[in-house]
Amino acid sequence: MRLRIAPSPTGILHLGNLYSTVINAIFCSKYNSRLILRIEDTDPQRNKTHAIREIYNVLDKIKINIDESSKKPGLYGPYKQSERIHIYKFYIKKLLKVGGGFFCRCSFKRVNILKKMNLALGDSPTYDGKCLSHKYLTGKIRLKVPKTGTYIGDYKTNWSNIDMQVLWSNSKPTFHFANVVDDQLMKISHVIRGRDWLPSLPKHILINTYLGFKTPRYHHMPLICDKKRLKLSKRLNNIGFYGLIGLGIIPEAILKYLISIVVGVDMKDISEAVLNFNIGGIKQQNIYIDLKKLILINKVCLSRIIFDVNSFITNLIKKECINKTISLCARKSLILHDIYKLMSFIFWDYKLIKMIFMSNTEYLLLNLLLIEYKKLDNWSKSNLQNIHKNLSKYLGLNIRTFCTILTPIIGGRNNISLYDAYIIIGQTNIITRVSIILDKRFSQSNQNI
Ligand SMILES: [Zn+2]
Repeated sequence: MRLRIAPSPTGILHLGNLYSTVINAIFCSKYNSRLILRIEDTDPQRNKTHAIREIYNVLDKIKINIDESSKKPGLYGPYKQSERIHIYKFYIKKLLKVGGGFFCRCSFKRVNILKKMNLALGDSPTYDGKCLSHKYLTGKIRLKVPKTGTYIGDYKTNWSNIDMQVLWSNSKPTFHFANVVDDQLMKISHVIRGRDWLPSLPKHILINTYLGFKTPRYHHMPLICDKKRLKLSKRLNNIGFYGLIGLGIIPEAILKYLISIVVGVDMKDISEAVLNFNIGGIKQQNIYIDLKKLILINKVCLSRIIFDVNSFITNLIKKECINKTISLCARKSLILHDIYKLMSFIFWDYKLIKMIFMSNTEYLLLNLLLIEYKKLDNWSKSNLQNIHKNLSKYLGLNIRTFCTILTPIIGGRNNISLYDAYIIIGQTNIITRVSIILDKRFSQSNQNI
């Protein structure tokens, strides 16, 4: 059997991705199957190379064994979608030839309005098939979906609810098409993925049928949600792997925690987890992150770890920043001990962030900051100063008050300048910290209701 994980290099490998990765890894270990890593990089993304490297790093750190990837090619490469465009071209032509697709020349605006109108009327947001009869020879390519009848499978629905998905646009496949073609050509036998893909299942089955492919066995797993039981796509989503590392949680604990969610009990590692694993036995309710449980597992892991000082600190800040941090703190110190005390901004303790009372302005400010920080391409002092200057002006705050509001992000007042601390702590960790601070305010307002 062959399984795959197929992350997109978007920068953050969040817990949902890792959860699904761990299920795949346990399945492979139990049934002696091969696990393939395919990078779904057909969408232009920022920092693509960097993000791909991070995917490998994270898998390496949580010790997920990959059998085939760009680094370890097997017989079914390339393993990056951006290198497979010629393959998709061949199959999209085939799809048109067998009548499974048609050209659409509707504007994005038209389709958008159409879908919004459908939603307002309580219907599924689907394309209306306007171009079906036109027989255009250029444009986007959409999937031809039966007009009547019902799809019956793991997900039962009327075909009229299924969108005529765009499969090809701007000389490239969209996710749905590339994904199905790759699973076939890479001989994937089982697809284990999140339940959020369930509504797309009829489309995937249809593409498989048109192209004469053998459909893999699909398993849809519950989703990881935040405390409000929303899909993990809101604020806590920012706390991806590196966000948790920045909070002082070690990779081993993250793996153990995810295993405990999958098999329902605490297990030492993946090889032990196979004993309790049954793909059909995974409960279908959504799962929410229990930070307290994760910390308890972390505590057990820490008590058993044999530390080496270097790797311990590089868990928290980048290697190249260590010397810079020490000399920065040394410049402000009278005695050696001061250096350690000043370095406390690295060891931000989220447990100390209790329910925070925040005025509406502060709350708004932190939310706006979060948006700006996420957008920032180059995490530099001058860029950060610009953001802060503009926002303080926008909210009518003087820069001093403004900086006071930011103090908790760097762990309270100390002699280190805000910007030095920001650069060393880094973008991912600052985003995590702001998210957690906002979340505490959020919990408080929730409890008051
Ligand atoms: Zn059209």
